[in-house]
Amino acid sequence: MFTFNGKSVLKGVAIGKLYIFKKQEYTVVKECVADAEAEVTRFQNACEKAKEQLGKLYQKTLAEVGEEHAAIFEVHQMMLEDLDYIEAIEALIRDEKVNAEYAVDTTGNNFAATFSMMDDDYFKARSADVLDISKRVVNVLAGIKEAGIDSDEPVIIVADDLTPSETVQMDKSKILAFVTRFGSNNSHTAILARSMNLPSLINTNIELLDEFDGKMAVVDSFHDSLIVNPNEETLKIANADLKRWRDELAALDELIGMENVTTDGRKVNIYANIGNVEDLPKVLKNDAHGIGLFRSEFVYLGSQDYPTEEEQFKAYKAVVEGMGGKKVIIRTLDIGADKQADYFHLDHEENPAMGLRAIRICLERMEVFKTQLRAIYRASAFGKCSIMFPMIISVWEIKKIKEIVEVVKQELTAEGHAIGEVELGIMIETPAAVMMSDELAKEVEFFSIGTNDLTQYTLAIDRQNECINRFYDSHHPAVLKMIKMTIDNGHKNGIWVGICGELASDLELTETFMDMGIDELSVSPTFILPLRKKVREI
Ligand code: PEP
Ligand code: MG
Repeated sequence: MFTFNGKSVLKGVAIGKLYIFKKQEYTVVKECVADAEAEVTRFQNACEKAKEQLGKLYQKTLAEVGEEHAAIFEVHQMMLEDLDYIEAIEALIRDEKVNAEYAVDTTGNNFAATFSMMDDDYFKARSADVLDISKRVVNVLAGIKEAGIDSDEPVIIVADDLTPSETVQMDKSKILAFVTRFGSNNSHTAILARSMNLPSLINTNIELLDEFDGKMAVVDSFHDSLIVNPNEETLKIANADLKRWRDELAALDELIGMENVTTDGRKVNIYANIGNVEDLPKVLKNDAHGIGLFRSEFVYLGSQDYPTEEEQFKAYKAVVEGMGGKKVIIRTLDIGADKQADYFHLDHEENPAMGLRAIRICLERMEVFKTQLRAIYRASAFGKCSIMFPMIISVWEIKKIKEIVEVVKQELTAEGHAIGEVELGIMIETPAAVMMSDELAKEVEFFSIGTNDLTQYTLAIDRQNECINRFYDSHHPAVLKMIKMTIDNGHKNGIWVGICGELASDLELTETFMDMGIDELSVSPTFILPLRKKVREI
């Protein structure tokens, strides 16, 4: 039995097998092999495994987004059966007595170079495909796992760290808990873990040893610990803790259907933060009265290419319709900083959190922005929809946005699309927006305070950097004063003000926020009922 210590991101208990998740960063090294025939067999087995993976990917993509996007995986399967490609690899292994990884990598690069020099666009495009299939086979050979979870039962994911795009691509039904060696409490991966209601630990002092893979373990984030190979006594205690935790969660159900009202009659809206359509059942189950933050960038992060207007429309419509007339606030895409999608081809930046991200990308790449706005406005015909814009610092930005919104509305109407009444708001997540909140309030219909970024920019503390955690104080008076100032300026101008950053679910501050006059608190679905309970006790 081994015990490792970490830091809890979400309290809870999980019991299950460990799944060691290693990044797909692997450098191919040339090695000599004594038995070339055995190496050829190793290659052939890896090819079969890769085809199996592609088959699963085909089925998953077909079910989720349709044939058009799934077809590529069928093409890749066929490429892995191409005799020229296979024979070239096997010949290299036999002639030079080299390891299969090297033979696949070298052959893949040679084929890709040949394809890319061809005049025909079709063959040019195959260059990337041949690199992709070769990488897949190399990963199988080297034991590096897919971004997905190759397990039939739910597991405890153990990783160095996880990016938001890796996390969103995982099959949620296969995850019992997250354990990472690095990471910070305010990273989007931590936020995702909380939204999935999964016990999670960060900064855990475990090494990613292959021998841990598949071992039984207990995550007890109440005590900040991960126990590998627990003995019978530990398992017995963990099972009792798991039961107690589940009972506590079940007891919150009695608050379903109740109002969010203090004992002296003050009311507040408690809404939910989501990232995907799949979060909707949790929102409904926890009786959220609306969605206060739909992080639409997760629709982009879960995709291999820019999601089309139609794909986005389907996602937004499903949420808006699913909420049955309750308010849904869709935040326009907040790509950049820690949320990267390769196909945006963003340049490397020294300070990405202060770089081209969020609304800045939208105002630079008008087509991307307009596509998203069109999809949201079309969805607005199916329920009650609002839009908010992230990372605003100046009045001119919102004026420009409103101009673009007008064009989009006119175009849609001219094309015969129905559109609904849409409230426009902004996130207050930069100190500049707080200082300008009096002026900004005259331009919009609501404010939603993003305390994660507001804290980072106010305290000059990178929300991703765990090393300076000692200086990070989420209750810092500077941040609280900014929140108060924003609420006051919003109310002075007759608009409502909410909080959608993680601070909204900090129960130690609920009373403070109520005293400041907050109108809405938007939190992960998991926190809706605990927050309701807290409000009702004030
Ligand atoms: C925030 O910054 O508080 C916020 C809600 O946005 P995100 O965490 O997605 O940056
Ligand atoms: Mg933010």
